[in-house]
Amino acid sequence: TARTIDGKAFAATLRARVGDAAADFTARAGRKPGLAVVLVGEDPASSVYVRSKGKATLAAGMESFEHRLPADTGEDALIALVDRLNADDAVDGILVQLPLPRHIDERAVLTRIDPDKDVDGFHPVNAGRLATGIDGLVPCTPLGCVMLLKDLHPDLSGMEAVVIGRSNIVGKPMAALLLKESATVTTVHSRTRDVAAHVRGADIVVAAVGIPAFVKADWVKPGATVIDVGINRTDDGLVGDVDPAVAEVAGALTPVPGGVGPMTIAVLMRNTLVAACRRAGLPAPAGL
Ligand code: NAD
Repeated sequence: TARTIDGKAFAATLRARVGDAAADFTARAGRKPGLAVVLVGEDPASSVYVRSKGKATLAAGMESFEHRLPADTGEDALIALVDRLNADDAVDGILVQLPLPRHIDERAVLTRIDPDKDVDGFHPVNAGRLATGIDGLVPCTPLGCVMLLKDLHPDLSGMEAVVIGRSNIVGKPMAALLLKESATVTTVHSRTRDVAAHVRGADIVVAAVGIPAFVKADWVKPGATVIDVGINRTDDGLVGDVDPAVAEVAGALTPVPGGVGPMTIAVLMRNTLVAACRRAGLPAPAGL
């Protein structure tokens, strides 16, 4: 059976390293790195995410600025807040929790964030930097997946990788990151004619679909490394996009929960620190 990739342990180590680097930053810059998180409305899942992000920020020795706005906040007021955070020197990272209420244009808000404070990496400028090989801020979840993959396979070059899903948040940046590592990358999606046929050839499978147990055991090449990004709330609790039977075939597999999930917040801490160092003109912390 597949080796379990312990994302929880990896994330704890990463957070500790970020904490050390944050202390170093504070000593040099004379202030702590700061992350502002903005939540509009009271979506329970989003509320939980925002709370754990705030806690992790404080635990890493960074300043946390939480902005909770009522659900009926107008787009203009939200953009005005983003402008204030862009101008605030104590703020190195700005994260607007998604989804936003329907009356607010998500794109208008996300493109307003200063790209150098865009710790979620969703701004088109950062997507463009990633696509063209310029240092920028990279979306947390796919960067966390690459960290787990490189821990297992330090050299991804030439490996066959299949990414299932093409969202701007996971699938597309995931494919871009694997390409940067010189993997041979195929992206499959809802219009792909034969997803299974592509997956069968893959050394690395990244599933970011949002469908419980989507990836079947007989699609997976024996020994392949499988990264399950899915977080699906079902009557049986949280389940991933990968059928548990895949563990019988794969060489290594991330569990849900405890795989990719914990990496996302750890990488958010990492991105905040990287943004802080760049803004302060300090060298990028080694090994992060
Ligand atoms: P999304 O809905 O934006 O994108 C899903 C993608 O799956 C789409 O590109 C679509 O083309 C593809 N797809 C849908 N049906 C398909 C099919 N039958 N065959 C092949 N492809 C198909 O979702 P997302 O934001 O990319 O998230 C994907 C999953 O990852 C969700 O379960 C989400 O909850 C989870 N997620 C987890 C984290 C984390 O921190 N671990 C972060 C973000 C998202």
